Amino acid sequence: MVSRLSEYEKIVGSKEIEQLRDLARRLKGITLLHINSTATGGGVAEILQNLVPLFQNLGIDCEWKVIQGTKEFFRITKSFHNTLQGVEGKPHFTSDIFKEYQKINRENAKRLRLDADVMVIHDIQPLALVEAKAKNKWVWRCHIDLSTPDREVWEFLHPYVASYDAAIFSAPEFRQALSIPQYIIPPSIDPLSEKNRDLPPQKVREVYQKFRIPEDRPILLQVSRFDPSKDPLGVIEAYRILKERMNCQLVLAGGGAEDDPEGSQILARVMKEAKDDPHLHILDLPPSSFLEINALQRGADVVIQKSLKEGFGLTVAEALWKERAVVGGKVGGIKLQIRDGETGFLVTSVRETAERVEYLLKNLSQARKMGRAGKKLVREKFLITRLLKDYLNLINEMTSR
Ligand code: UDP
Repeated sequence: MVSRLSEYEKIVGSKEIEQLRDLARRLKGITLLHINSTATGGGVAEILQNLVPLFQNLGIDCEWKVIQGTKEFFRITKSFHNTLQGVEGKPHFTSDIFKEYQKINRENAKRLRLDADVMVIHDIQPLALVEAKAKNKWVWRCHIDLSTPDREVWEFLHPYVASYDAAIFSAPEFRQALSIPQYIIPPSIDPLSEKNRDLPPQKVREVYQKFRIPEDRPILLQVSRFDPSKDPLGVIEAYRILKERMNCQLVLAGGGAEDDPEGSQILARVMKEAKDDPHLHILDLPPSSFLEINALQRGADVVIQKSLKEGFGLTVAEALWKERAVVGGKVGGIKLQIRDGETGFLVTSVRETAERVEYLLKNLSQARKMGRAGKKLVREKFLITRLLKDYLNLINEMTSR
């Protein structure tokens, strides 16, 4: 179900919506194409699923296309992604790896029409499509923290980035020195999507029942792809520390993404950990589980996002919007969303995670207060209407240059 723009008025006010319509009117006739590397799974697909229909709703000719790649290609791009974010354990990159990356991008450049007036290319997988750039405007939308990239990978990718007309980062501290203009646009969530819209308590209960999660003890939840950078094993460790002190249960809900080949190995490890613990629930969800995630987030007592590396961390905004205090890793975009002690707690270790979660469980009125502050923050900064406005302004600027 796609929400119409007018439905956002009750959340952000009619003035905001009028502004969007005004901006869109100025872009009449402009064509826009978003390209990324997966239709489902992960934050980028989540944003595009909701954003593209809203552009269309505003009368803008906006399309979204996904590149095709081999397993090998996605293994390569995931290792680029990891090393650019400073994940340890850098693999040895041979020249064949860089050639394969170029080859798949060139194949996609032949397959796709890349002639929209404004092209928005998301992340590094389709970055090299820019080789096919003609006279139209190309924007690179980087969703990761690029402040301390691996030099070898960055030296390879940098010339592609430099061929763009502009780059977008989620926060000023994620930027790199570049010769092209850089814009700061944080991601956002859609408050009316199936994942975030209000749900009656009965619906929440039904979802918990469906997954056989009893409501007899406090519920801790982390929703994430099964990825080492989301540290699911660290979350389990924190839960085990906590379990020694009080009754609780942990739900780890996740699924895969086509451009992420690491998922199944991590899921297998997590499943092994959970084998003998009836209070540790591992949910391997299909990509269409929007309602389920919505309900899980609403029914949790505390939401955890113990990432070790993070781009933005949409799951944090999703939980805050549902008035849940979040205990999250002090990394990437989580730092933009968790104001320590105000909308949740920022943590840097397993022990600290356990302590903060314990504090919130023992001080529920404090946790609720933080949840309410979190919703206010998301309303002010991280809703899709703001993202739409930022994009419209940027496109306006680029097409009138
Ligand atoms: N998500 C989902 N199903 C899952 C796991 C995650 O739909 O099994 C969603 C989650 O609700 C969020 C997005 O995928 O909307 C993850 O975005 P985030 O920025 O947190 O992390 P990323 O996966 O992009 O690193």
